[in-house]
Amino acid sequence: MGPRAPVTRRAWLQAAAAWPLAACTRGEAPALTGGWVGASHARGHGLREALPTDLRGATPRRAAVLVVGGGIAGLAAARGFLRAGVDDVQLLELEDHPGGNSRGHLMAGMACPLGAHYLPQPQAPAHEVIEWLHEIGLLRQESGRTVADERQLCHAPQERLWIDGAWHEGLLPPAEPGSPTLAQYRRFAAAVAAAPAFAIPSHRAAWTAAHDALDGQTFGAWLDGQGLTDERLRWYLDYSCRDDYGAGLDTVSAWAGLHYFASRHGFSTPGDGDEPAEPVFTWPQGNAWLVQRLAAPLAGRLHGGRVVLRVREQRRGVQVLVRQGDGFETWTAGTVVLALPLFVATRVLDTPPEALRQAAAATVQAPWLVANLQIDKPPLDRPGLPSAWDSVPYSALGSRTLGYVDAMHQSLRPHAGATVLTAYATVPIAERQALLDQPWQHWARRMLDELTPAHPDLPERVQRIDLMRYGHAMAVPVPGRRHSAAARAALRGGSGRVRFAHADLAGYSVFEEAFIAGCEAASAPCRCA
Ligand SMILES: Cc1cc2nc3c(=O)[nH]c(=O)nc-3n(C[C@H](O)[C@H](O)[C@H](O)COP(=O)(O)OP(=O)(O)OC[C@H]3O[C@@H](n4cnc5c(N)ncnc54)[C@H](O)[C@@H]3O)c2cc1C
Repeated sequence: MGPRAPVTRRAWLQAAAAWPLAACTRGEAPALTGGWVGASHARGHGLREALPTDLRGATPRRAAVLVVGGGIAGLAAARGFLRAGVDDVQLLELEDHPGGNSRGHLMAGMACPLGAHYLPQPQAPAHEVIEWLHEIGLLRQESGRTVADERQLCHAPQERLWIDGAWHEGLLPPAEPGSPTLAQYRRFAAAVAAAPAFAIPSHRAAWTAAHDALDGQTFGAWLDGQGLTDERLRWYLDYSCRDDYGAGLDTVSAWAGLHYFASRHGFSTPGDGDEPAEPVFTWPQGNAWLVQRLAAPLAGRLHGGRVVLRVREQRRGVQVLVRQGDGFETWTAGTVVLALPLFVATRVLDTPPEALRQAAAATVQAPWLVANLQIDKPPLDRPGLPSAWDSVPYSALGSRTLGYVDAMHQSLRPHAGATVLTAYATVPIAERQALLDQPWQHWARRMLDELTPAHPDLPERVQRIDLMRYGHAMAVPVPGRRHSAAARAALRGGSGRVRFAHADLAGYSVFEEAFIAGCEAASAPCRCA
């Protein structure tokens, strides 16, 4: 993506010389230190238990607006009400800290992500995001142009792919001039350019019969129909879908497969003189940097460690039952925003509306696994492009790994040293239960096994591995989106006492969708209690 960094002969020789040495030093797998971090499944799964019957000791609380869920959508909704002049906005979050899927972590003093780790430069339809990025100084106007703060954009090189025994810049596998692979890249680029209109947020692009046709089949089936069967192209498209949607091209719809490219930067064929894609915003702690900026103005209005158990709408307000530690709180609010995954909102609402039931029933949730590997110094590398922010090994179709990002890439230190590598993997739905049942060491070893071919001494370099497991991380945009479109649209915005805000309303999950869902929930005045 960024300008190609020169690969010096010295760097190549160093890497090549180190390789046999690494093979010699590999012996018994060293014992692992680490554990599960991030989410309290006991709190979340507590929602399945029977509700308490005796609430005499519960603490009564009141708020003009109560936001439930402190992910990006909930934080954006709270911000929206504050901006509208409602001072008494309170936010309840199940975990001790806000951020949801965009939380960060700390290892040996080094910040690293636990989930979301980048924000692409938003396009015009995401105008609420653009406005906020101006507010926090990430974007500014200069001579009539919108300019991004260079310091917060990913430093080059942004991405590299390990394939054919070497690291190559970018994630698209290289293709020889005149090769069938290059021809297929060009055909796919043409298909993206000719695709119907897509936008982020997705509900701001008109839905046409062409979208309908794409929505009726998997991306894989659509590619077959186009004769786009090249292995390297398919690997890249599968990787892209797993990276954004948590599931591969044989699971997501063709709508989703094309949306990934057509709603943002398109698809560039190498050597065709296309503009390079713009670098993304990123930080050592990933999107937790954005969470901090959303949460700071809320100050004492943010209440962590609060599990919302039941929400009951009444004529004069909304009653919310909350578990806090061993005790309970009963909140009364004029307006409540449920910034929760739709299946959780359905569970806590006393009488969920039909649209919510329908939308939740149509939503398939992808599990995810994130491993933070604290290392004492950079691992041995293969020849080719030296270290980048995002490093991905080319692997067989069906592999889980999405590679890793380097938390210290954005630091301007002159010499590489200790760092945290955050490795991502999608987990098939059938293995969701195994995320709970298998010990963290099982998953840590699997992550290491996927990365060790690219970095032979990685097991020796690792000092600690902290893993975050997501049982229900995000909505997967499977075929059939149009069937739940009306239900999801009915849940957006709204002016009632109970409103909804979550990336699930888009049927897939990115920062912009979550943020805008929150803004829309706060766009109509709140109701008094
Ligand atoms: C591993 C991973 C990597 C990702 N990477 C990126 C990325 O790089 N860029 C990007 O744009 N997007 C990324 N995403 C997508 C990410 O989901 C969105 O960017 C965004 O964070 C979603 O925010 P949300 O508010 O809609 O949902 P959530 O993050 O799901 O927030 C919901 C909140 O509600 C809370 N909650 C749930 N139940 C209760 C309850 N009963 N009571 C109180 N609180 C409750 C949860 O704890 C959570 O904080 C990634 C997602 C994952 C899982």
